[in-house]
Amino acid sequence: MFRRREHIEIKSDDQLQVMRAAGLVVAQTLERVRQLVAPGVTTADLDDCAAAMISDAGAAPSFLGYYGFPAHICTSVNDEVVHGIPGARVLQEGDLISIDCGAIVDGWHGDAAITVAVGQVSGDSQRLSDVTQASLWAGLRAARVGARLSDIGHAIQTSIEAAGDYGILEDYVGHGIGSAMHLEPSVPNYGKPGRGPRLVPGMALAIEPMVTAGSAKVHTMSDDWTVVASDGGMSAHWEHSVAITQAGPWVLTALDEVWATPSGGPE
Ligand code: MG
Ligand code: MG
Repeated sequence: MFRRREHIEIKSDDQLQVMRAAGLVVAQTLERVRQLVAPGVTTADLDDCAAAMISDAGAAPSFLGYYGFPAHICTSVNDEVVHGIPGARVLQEGDLISIDCGAIVDGWHGDAAITVAVGQVSGDSQRLSDVTQASLWAGLRAARVGARLSDIGHAIQTSIEAAGDYGILEDYVGHGIGSAMHLEPSVPNYGKPGRGPRLVPGMALAIEPMVTAGSAKVHTMSDDWTVVASDGGMSAHWEHSVAITQAGPWVLTALDEVWATPSGGPE
């Protein structure tokens, strides 16, 4: 246990302020991209918008070139769960698109994802997105000083299971974040409570439930990136980066200053 703790990066208050700056770039980029989502828009259009937003903010994209990833955001449509590559795909009325964005300011990362309805979507699709977003906030609220790491995944799983019969991805998880996008520890979206490292001030985590309407079985497409639901069902993905602070879970990638207290969020 002690050895595991040693591998978790602890940020100073000043470093968390820079992470908040990076998180705000991510939040503002996702907000602008969200406003652009409509039938007839291509996922490449969304990527162009994100590229300009990140660049204009004086930040750098976390994703571009990451293990060769060719774009600034991930765009995952319908049965695509995560890591979809922007391109010529034209969004259609009724699609559900997940958009994942990361940005770097002065070497510190922010990482967040939203799921957006394209035009009018089915009630089931909207509910899938809402259930996933609510589970993210359940996880964020569990990211408190003194809690154990697995309390987060337990809160997410409990929230989703209370909402219905959904699939929770197990091979893809949240992560520590800070001087790199992906750091220890892994943050599963399921599990028993009261296990793993105790959460202390200065830790920062990216919490990101990935949920399917049907089976949680997924596979990777021939582009070696896009992860799709094997049963072809709809999927949703919501993510925030959060700092563990004495004042509570500070949501670094929210548009406004938000702490994930019982009354805080979703924004
Ligand atoms: Mg992400
Ligand atoms: Mg992430």
